[in-house]
Amino acid sequence: MERLKKVDPQVYKAINDELKRERDTLNLIASENFAPQVVLEAQGSVMTNKYAEGYPGERWYDGCQHVDQVEKLAQQRAKQLFGGEHVNVQPHSGTQANMAVYFAMLKMGDPVLAMDLACGGHLSHGHHHNFSGKYFKIISYGVDRGNELIDYGEVEDLAKKHNPKMIVVGASAYPRTIDFAKFRQIADKVGAFILADIAHIAGLVAAGLHPSPVPYAEFVTTTTHKTLRGPRAGMIICRKEFAARIDAEVFPGIQGGPLMHVIAAKAVALKLALQPEFKSYQRQIVANAKKLAAELQGRAYRIVSAGTDTHLLLVDLSSKKITGKDAACALDQAGIVVNKNLIPYDRLGPQLTSGLRLGTPALTTRGMKQAQMQQIACLIDAVIAAAQDQKTIAATKAEVLKLTQKFPLYQELT
Ligand SMILES: *Cc1c(COP(=O)(O)O)cnc(C)c1O
Repeated sequence: MERLKKVDPQVYKAINDELKRERDTLNLIASENFAPQVVLEAQGSVMTNKYAEGYPGERWYDGCQHVDQVEKLAQQRAKQLFGGEHVNVQPHSGTQANMAVYFAMLKMGDPVLAMDLACGGHLSHGHHHNFSGKYFKIISYGVDRGNELIDYGEVEDLAKKHNPKMIVVGASAYPRTIDFAKFRQIADKVGAFILADIAHIAGLVAAGLHPSPVPYAEFVTTTTHKTLRGPRAGMIICRKEFAARIDAEVFPGIQGGPLMHVIAAKAVALKLALQPEFKSYQRQIVANAKKLAAELQGRAYRIVSAGTDTHLLLVDLSSKKITGKDAACALDQAGIVVNKNLIPYDRLGPQLTSGLRLGTPALTTRGMKQAQMQQIACLIDAVIAAAQDQKTIAATKAEVLKLTQKFPLYQELT
C-alpha cells in the first residue's frame, strides 16, 4: 500500500494499525473471521467500478460481460455448496438478505414468529429499532429456562395462537443444533413460510456438520463473512417458485447496484468452501469450541446449555461476580477480544449483561487447536479472576503476544 501511504497517510495508518491489532490479539468474536488473502484481492479489485443493476444477462448497463461471469460463478458455487434451487448473491449484508425476504413475502403488520433477541435472536428478527420490529408484528419464542434449548412445544403453541405468516429460525447466540425439520412440521400446521437464517452456522452447514435447512425452508439467508469465511456480505437461497419475487425485491426493491467486487470475492470464498480442507477447518472449529467450553467448565464457569454443538459458546459469569461488560473490557486490555452477551433470562440488561459470547472460527483460521484452547481458557480465567489487576493484564498480554506470534496472520501483507 505504498501509494496509499503517500496519498492518505491517515487512512493508511488506520488500516495498518488494524492489521497489527488483528495479528496481535486473540479474536474470539463468534461472528468474525479472517478472510483469505485471495478473497481480499478479489474484493479490492476494479470490479468496484462497475454498475450492474439487474442480473447476469439482463442488466440495465452495458459492459457487464465480466461481472456477469463472477456473479454466475458465485451463483453456481452457492447452489453446489448448499443445494438450493435458486440463489441471489447480491444482498450487501445479512440484514438486507432478511429484509428482501420479509418485504417480498409479507405485508406491513403481518405476524412473524422469531427468536427472542434476549435468547439469541438477531436484530433483524424483530428488534424495535430494526425494520423487522417496526413494520411487522413480531411474536418471540425463547429457550427453556431449565435446559436452555429451543422449546419446540412453546414454538408450536405460539404458532397456533398467533398464526404467523412466517417463522424465522436461526440465531446469533445459540450454541446448539437447530432442528429445522421440527420447525417445518410446526410451520405446516399453521401454513407459515420458514425463513432459516444461517448467518452464523453457514460454514458448518456447508461442511455437513450442522443439518441443512435447505430441504425444510422456503428461504435460507446467510452472511458470507462469519463461519463461511468470505467477504462481508449476504446471500439468499430459495425455492424456484419464489425466485422472481426475491430477485425483484433485492433489486430494485431494497438495493441499487450490486457490489460486484464483493460478489467476485463471494465467488472465491465459495470455491474455497467447496474444497475438502474447508470441511476439516469446520471440524476443527467445533472441536475447538467444545474444548474451550470443557476447559472453562473445569475452571467452574457455567456454560449456557452445558456446552456447545457449534462454533460458539455462552459463558455465564453470574457466579464470578463480574458483569459481561467489565469482563469483556478487561479481556480486551489483555489482547483477548470477545463480546459481552445476554444469557437467557439475564437479570442484567443488554448494556451490562451476565455473559460472554466466545467463538472459535477466527482462532481456528490461524491454525490453533485444542492445546491452544486449553491455554486460552487459562488466560481468560486469570483475567476474569483479577480484572482490576494491571499486573495480571500485562502478564496476560505478553502471553497473548507469544501465542499470536506462533500462529501468524496474513504473512504476505506488509
Ligand atoms: C450476523 C447476523 C445477521 C446479519 O448480519 P449483517 O451484520 O447485517 O451482515 C443476520 N442474522 C443473524 C442470525 C446474524 O447472526
